[in-house]
Amino acid sequence: MNELPSNIENSNFIRDIIGNDLRDGLCEKVVTRFPPEPNGYLHIGHAKSIYLNFGVAQDFSGRCHLRFDDTNPTREEQEYIDAIKTDIQWLGLDWGDHLYYASDYFEQLYDWAVHLIQIGKAYVDDLTADEIRDYRGTLTEPGRNSPHRDRPAKESLSLFSRMRKGDFPNGQRVVRAKIDMASGNINLRDPIMYRIIHSTHPRTANNWCIYPTYDFAHGQSDSIEHVSHSICTLEFEDHRPLYDWFIENLPVPSRPHQYEFARLNLSYTILSKRALTQLVRENHVSGWNDPRMPTLSGMRRRGFPSEAIREFVKRIGVAKNNSVVDTAILEHCVRDFLNQHAERRMAVLRPLKVIIENYPDGKTENLDAPNNPAKEEVGTRKLPFSREIYIEQDDFMEEPPKKFFRLAPEREVRLRYGYLITCTDVKKDPNGEIIELRAQYDPATKGGNAPDGRKVKGTLHWVSAPHAIDAEVHLFEHLFTDSEPRSDGDLLKGINPSSLEILRDCKLEPSLGNLDKGQTVQFERKGYFCTDTDSTSDRMLFNRTIGLRDSWSKAQSGKTG
Ligand code: ATP
Ligand code: MG
Repeated sequence: MNELPSNIENSNFIRDIIGNDLRDGLCEKVVTRFPPEPNGYLHIGHAKSIYLNFGVAQDFSGRCHLRFDDTNPTREEQEYIDAIKTDIQWLGLDWGDHLYYASDYFEQLYDWAVHLIQIGKAYVDDLTADEIRDYRGTLTEPGRNSPHRDRPAKESLSLFSRMRKGDFPNGQRVVRAKIDMASGNINLRDPIMYRIIHSTHPRTANNWCIYPTYDFAHGQSDSIEHVSHSICTLEFEDHRPLYDWFIENLPVPSRPHQYEFARLNLSYTILSKRALTQLVRENHVSGWNDPRMPTLSGMRRRGFPSEAIREFVKRIGVAKNNSVVDTAILEHCVRDFLNQHAERRMAVLRPLKVIIENYPDGKTENLDAPNNPAKEEVGTRKLPFSREIYIEQDDFMEEPPKKFFRLAPEREVRLRYGYLITCTDVKKDPNGEIIELRAQYDPATKGGNAPDGRKVKGTLHWVSAPHAIDAEVHLFEHLFTDSEPRSDGDLLKGINPSSLEILRDCKLEPSLGNLDKGQTVQFERKGYFCTDTDSTSDRMLFNRTIGLRDSWSKAQSGKTG
């Protein structure tokens, strides 16, 4: 197992609870679990839960299980099971032998439902879904008992067994716990334990046509696995009395406890599988791993290192009240990691050709360029230089304003790791668009320094034209214009129509042709980039992981000083 650094999570209230339980002898072995429903890909909110569960287990010498909560076959697929495993491994975590599925426990759960019916604490109800809702009452009004609530246990048992056999269509009957229709907690008003779903399950195929609800499956699955601390998000706080009720009323092998923490919300995006599913299904993005998605697979494709995600989760901590975390903090963690680890390369995203008229035609010089100027140990690479190069269009202005220090007519600039050049002429097409520049270089300035010490303010990145690799580059903005997009019916209103910008005519230095898949590099002055999963040697495609400017640390330094 890949060891997490100790205290990956700063101390938090969950850690305190576990520490106290161990000290007080209430728990011998810390066992946690991460319980995803395989109905979508994992997002960064799940990473918070994953690091919390695996982190506390490791810190207290316990273990963390991966359990698929596969109780609704209409929404669940093997593709999601596989993707979830891949993502957790990418985060650097390992469940070892402890991979489980709620569906492993279907037979046991069925027996426990039978047990509750036998002791008069559950019954089969014939009301329709609408009627059940109607009978349930509201926050201010108590519910009413179903007319079937007091049917004999024998009758319920016979109906339940027929439900299992497939005698009834979807929705015709359910099994409900008999608790209290007047309870102030609506979750205790005879909650549903089993429903009929005629659908093929990814693991149990057509063995079952009745499935336990989350509430009936979760705590009992925890108990079967001897989970000591069942950590979930705040929306389950009101379910805890029900969780406890099942555990108290069933002959379960252990007594787990549920604890809740605040889910992660992130500005300018949405962390709800239902909403993300909608974005995918309706083609607002190219798939679950679209680089704009807040999914782990999207972030990986975009070039976010898992180390940065871990650092982010550590920084935001674990609390008991909901809040929205600024996406700039995540971006800061990504930038911070890449600034230290990414090698530097040259790429021109919007090319403008410059012909250096006094440089010999056909000559190539291989200049030495450091892979990271701040880290000598990562070495240098050869960068070809020739008579024709590309620079960025916006690094040239024909009539520059005062503070523009880049290239302009008659002005001298430094080509990074190359020579000083002076612009001598501007070529335009019939529409007046600039199509090419002419320049002269100073042969005495190899490496970019003038021997006479004359001042040259601007330094430009560049790529030798005959050696350049063509590439397409994708730039991303937030997926939503709204900082707190709504996950309800108005989801689509907040979508940013220009979250993807495609640049088709980019020019890269030749060494970028051999970049490893998944390696993120800095394109000097332009940000961090990595090859896309769809990139091929015939059609190179890069994603911009993140730009260089750091709005978060800027805002922070603005605050303090
Ligand atoms: P969603 O609301 O996105 O559909 P979910 O809770 O239905 O998520 P599950 O697969 O059931 O998704 O989640 C697995 C675990 O991850 C649960 O324990 C859940 O509490 C936790 N989790 C889900 N979303 C977040 C989040 N935004 N922040 C922290 N933990 C989360
Ligand atoms: Mg859930």
